[in-house]
Amino acid sequence: MVDFTLTPEQARIRDTARELAQGPIAARAAEVDRSESYPFDNVALLKDAGLLGLCIPTDYGGAGMDILAPVLVIEEMARACGVTGRIAVETNMGAIGAIMAYGTHEQKKLAADLVLSGDKPAICITEPEAGSAATEMTTRADRRGNRFVLNGKKHWITGGGVSRLHLIFARVFDEDGSEQGIGGFLAVRDETPGLVTGAREPTMGLRGIPETEIRFEDMEVAPAMALTPPGGYARGFAALMEAYNGQRVGAGTVALGLAAGAFELGRAHALKREQFGRPIAEFQGLQWMLADMHMKIELARTFLWRAAVSGNGPNGPFPDPLLAAEAKIFASEMAIEVTNAALQLFGARGYSRNLPLERIARDARMFTIGGGTAQILRTFAASKILGKSLPQTRDGYREAPPRKA
Ligand SMILES: Cc1cc2nc3c(=O)[nH]c(=O)nc-3n(C[C@H](O)[C@H](O)[C@H](O)COP(=O)(O)OP(=O)(O)OC[C@H]3O[C@@H](n4cnc5c(N)ncnc54)[C@H](O)[C@@H]3O)c2cc1C
Repeated sequence: MVDFTLTPEQARIRDTARELAQGPIAARAAEVDRSESYPFDNVALLKDAGLLGLCIPTDYGGAGMDILAPVLVIEEMARACGVTGRIAVETNMGAIGAIMAYGTHEQKKLAADLVLSGDKPAICITEPEAGSAATEMTTRADRRGNRFVLNGKKHWITGGGVSRLHLIFARVFDEDGSEQGIGGFLAVRDETPGLVTGAREPTMGLRGIPETEIRFEDMEVAPAMALTPPGGYARGFAALMEAYNGQRVGAGTVALGLAAGAFELGRAHALKREQFGRPIAEFQGLQWMLADMHMKIELARTFLWRAAVSGNGPNGPFPDPLLAAEAKIFASEMAIEVTNAALQLFGARGYSRNLPLERIARDARMFTIGGGTAQILRTFAASKILGKSLPQTRDGYREAPPRKA
């Protein structure tokens, strides 16, 4: 049985987030987009309101809540400002979730202290030649005595140059050169020599968060900063990606918030704008558009919440991988449709940079790409549904058993 009744604490968190989002966060959203500047002021507001690190255990200074709490915050933020919605994701899920699940006491303390003081950790997986095929990454961590030495290059790293804590995925090699698998390594910008921020991407939307190249140039990391999931490096990538199920629910929720924000603007405009002597909301063509938009938003929210609570209790600490992937696909595709439909309701005004519709539509375009594309997530979902691994390489297909006549 799934019960979505919010606890008084969850309702309080949502109301706090709503007040903040509809006040100062909404007021700054256009400027964040225009200036392409990271909104440190908004981070300070989130921090002061106790909305960072909501799932960090109380022993480490967090609120010790389950993942639905940040989901509520993320939707509220994204309704007003997609960039702040994304910050709410990455200060509550993703890297911090992986570290809290698999980290040593020292690693958890480092990560919790940074996040609770306002740092949005960066998660470094994607490389120029290893995007969807993430396990083909070439960044390597070579064991040399009492150190790992990292070399390689990542790109499209959210928060490059503003994030302090970095969780870096790399192939791990022993002293004798034998490969162990993929592991995670923690490094802190300005404290770990060899961690270099490269060029920034000029992005279509979500312009207040830098997406940059990150290079590792003989970057030395103490073994104490290696994040070793249970099962060791051989299962390292799979285990680290488990933590990403939380991030997927978070990313889908930003898409949901953007759609819900655009819908609200569209609804209000349809009631006010008059053509042919009556409000455009009186035309059935637009009524059906609004009904479809509303229905899809409600469905996405239900799906995301269902995925979020699937990680509670004995099934935790991360959301169910199939539900998380499917909810993200649905919400991200829905957000593209709904934000464009909302823009349409405004006619020419929707196309103007004087109104937020074009920004919201640009921001929403990202979520079928980052964090696993809609295509790769469908393949992943199919593999779960069919109970088979579905190799995407030619070699994988060659190894598949011959089909029966
Ligand atoms: C705004 C933004 C922020 C990001 N932040 C981060 C971050 O913080 N950290 C990080 O590590 N990465 C980040 N990424 C990178 C993101 O995870 C990758 O872009 C994504 O995994 C896809 O990789 P790619 O861009 O190289 O596309 P490609 O892998 O080159 O894919 C190109 C197209 O082919 C499709 N495709 C590829 N293989 C298949 C297949 N087998 N079957 C069907 N279709 C296929 C893809 O779906 C896509 O449509 C971010 C990306 C964006 C846009």
